[in-house]
Amino acid sequence: MMSMTLGVQGQALDGGCGTPPAPPQNLQWIENLMAQQNVWGIETNDTLIRVPIKAHFVTDINGRTFSHKDLLDVVCELNAKYKPANIYFYLRPNINIIRMPVYNPLANFAAGNQLMLDNNINRAVNVHFTNLGQMGLCGYATYPGSGPGSTMRQGGMVMGTNGNCSSPGNTTFAHEMGHYLSLPHPFDETENDPDNAATAERVTRNNNEVLPRLRANCATAGDRFCDTPADFIGTRWNCAGPVPTQLDINGDQFQPDPTLYMSYSLDFCQNRFSPSQITAMRATIPGLRGYLLQPTMPTLDSVKVAPAMIQPVQNDTNVVSNFAFFKWQSVPGATHYCIQIARSANFSDAIVDTFVTDTQFLYTANRMVPNATYRWRVKAFNWQYTCAPISASWTFRSGAPFGVQASQLSADEVELFPSVVEAGAPIRVRFTEPSAQSFQLSILDLHGKLVKSFSSNPADQEGTVSLDGMNSGMYLVQITREGRSMNKKIIVR
Ligand SMILES: [Zn+2]
Repeated sequence: MMSMTLGVQGQALDGGCGTPPAPPQNLQWIENLMAQQNVWGIETNDTLIRVPIKAHFVTDINGRTFSHKDLLDVVCELNAKYKPANIYFYLRPNINIIRMPVYNPLANFAAGNQLMLDNNINRAVNVHFTNLGQMGLCGYATYPGSGPGSTMRQGGMVMGTNGNCSSPGNTTFAHEMGHYLSLPHPFDETENDPDNAATAERVTRNNNEVLPRLRANCATAGDRFCDTPADFIGTRWNCAGPVPTQLDINGDQFQPDPTLYMSYSLDFCQNRFSPSQITAMRATIPGLRGYLLQPTMPTLDSVKVAPAMIQPVQNDTNVVSNFAFFKWQSVPGATHYCIQIARSANFSDAIVDTFVTDTQFLYTANRMVPNATYRWRVKAFNWQYTCAPISASWTFRSGAPFGVQASQLSADEVELFPSVVEAGAPIRVRFTEPSAQSFQLSILDLHGKLVKSFSSNPADQEGTVSLDGMNSGMYLVQITREGRSMNKKIIVR
């Protein structure tokens, strides 16, 4: 499936679905299931089925991955879309960061197979987020019993981080999950030759048509579901324009259903699975993918509110650009928080986008520009509840970085220990090589304030620095000798 070429306003067209037509054994399985349903009226939507997702983020050559915050949002959206099916997805901790840019962008399906073989875990829907732009795709999935690997970790999904494929507000995730849970495209076996008597699904649902008209074949053609209309469109199409039409072998007009997640209508057209599709997905989980049900989902409290922000205060200024401390209040039920720091209002250029278990975050990297306006926000969650609203965005102004030298000391050249110090105890510094010069220590608190400085005698190779009078907490220590420096964090208990 290549990218669509029709231009449509208001929607990025980032590529299609790369899932191949369903294997014959899957189509046969659906036929058997639907035949039983017709005989016995199987309807088992009353019990909630819980399904674990393992998210894998592949880094690109710049170390970037899919957004942690967007993952929370798209799992929340996935659950809204699967609510009528009474299927609930939760995350298996933690996100697996795969530092292999050779798989980002992904070159081909063979590389995707290797990615799954090397990284899939047992008993979860393995979802790999990487750039599929080179393949012209937004996502693809494997059917039960197919794909790389063995039973409990076989196959999975690859979701494109290109364009908006995996962004909140899109439907590719729900569509590919449908494939993973056995659903074919409604245009399967029909799009290539819509009036083929042998293979194409006919529009009619009448089993008693009179020749020369051919009778209904919806149970044995197309996606095998009789409650999804015959569909002949295997390229992305826009439901907002005139619906494309074609005639089947009986001369009946095809009216493909744009509301189905499994169709190729544009994302905004889609909003449902049919009852038979739901039956098939619900039968797949305890059946063909029964290994997903063990171990059962642990019980966690729901997370419903956004954290109250504490520091830096709204419109704070002079936040040290390489030693910035962020703090917020805990939220009931939350075991984790997602913090984002960015310059743009939509956080698309986030310099921090990560999960932490604490209600604070210390930024010590060097991607924050001095004298610039930044925003930060926090979302509370646990691995089962990802739908709580995100906090307001608070703004701050970055100040000068602390003690940045042109040349950095390496960890081989100097040691600072211990990194966790009892209150009142000293810290020690030791250089591995002698020098005729003295060395200096500066200690900053989390507000960027200098709380202690120390200078050694010339030619000292080591020294002991008293921390008398310092409160418990986290501090930044800068060690400088001969114009070269190194920053280290310490904790005073
Ligand atoms: Zn598809």
